[in-house]
Parts: sequence; structure tokens; C-alpha cells
Amino acid sequence: MSAEPKSRWNPDRFDVRAFAQVGAQLIADDALARFDRLAAELPAGVSAEGRTVQWRVQGEQRPGARGAEPSIWLHVQAQVDLPLACQRCLAPVDTQLAVDRWFRFVADEDTAAAEDEDSEEDVLALEPRPSLRDLIEDELLMELPPVPMHEVCPEPLQPGAETATAAEPPEAAPRRNPFAELARLKK
Ligand SMILES: [Zn+2]
Repeated sequence: MSAEPKSRWNPDRFDVRAFAQVGAQLIADDALARFDRLAAELPAGVSAEGRTVQWRVQGEQRPGARGAEPSIWLHVQAQVDLPLACQRCLAPVDTQLAVDRWFRFVADEDTAAAEDEDSEEDVLALEPRPSLRDLIEDELLMELPPVPMHEVCPEPLQPGAETATAAEPPEAAPRRNPFAELARLKK
């Protein structure tokens, strides 16, 4: 069934109609760096390197009503673990974004715009052929929390908090600072 080589489907100009007609499926573990807008959400100092977006798309053709042409559907599932800047302490907070949606595809953008208003499902255009990654990225971006925040922030890094740490008795943080330890040994 999915014995076809992956190269048959071009994710950048995706032929949803042909994909749905054969009920094909694509599964990928794609570098986050390929998704510019998602990668831009990473806090300063956090690299996209080694991070991936996992996605799966499944095409499906459904019988049309009363002899109409079959309708073309695409099931899109995607997931990414994205550290976001916590809006309280600014440290990265691990956030999972996940999407699981069906889209119906129609001939062109005008039809899609007209039918989208009256449809429960999202309606998209077959032509021009969409970029799968753009579609996946659009959907994941919509899942971004408006205010990313730790449930409980880790040791805060603000100057005020450092004072609090310094005020703790030394036994509370033993051997944390090798230079302090060295200075003690030199005495
Ligand atoms: Zn925080």
C-alpha cells in the first residue's frame, strides 16, 4: 500500500487529489529547522538542532452526495516538543504542541473560501498545490499557548532571587562552587 517510494509525493507542492485517490499515507520526523516560524518561537540560546516535528498525513476519498464527485480529505496529525520562554521567569518551559485534524479539499481557492464559511470542517484548495509543511506549521502555530508559563518556575534567575540563595546557610548548597571550595582548601 505505501510501498511507493516517498519521492512520489512532493511535500512542497502536494498533490492532495492523487494522494487521496490511492489512500496514501506519509510519515515523517522532520528537522524543526525546516519550520522557520516554529523555530522562531524558541527562546534565545535554545537551538533548533536535534529537534524534530513528527507528522503524519493520510489521504482519503469519500463518496460524493447524490452522484457528485467523491470528496477529497486529508487527515493531518503533527506534534512537536517546543521549549518556549516562560512569561514569568523567562527560562524555557517544555511545551508540546499537537494537531489532529481533517481537511476537505476543493478545486480552487475561491471554492474553498465560499465553502469554508458553511462547513464545519476546514476547506482548503487543491490548486495551487499546497505545501504540506506550511499547512502543518500553520496548524501547530495555532496551538501555541498565549502565555507559556511553568506550573512552578524553577530557581528564578532574577538578581533578587540570587540574593535569597546567597542568604541560605552554606550547608544548603554544598560543593556547588568549585572555586569557593578551592579557596577554602587554600586557607
Ligand atoms: Zn517560569
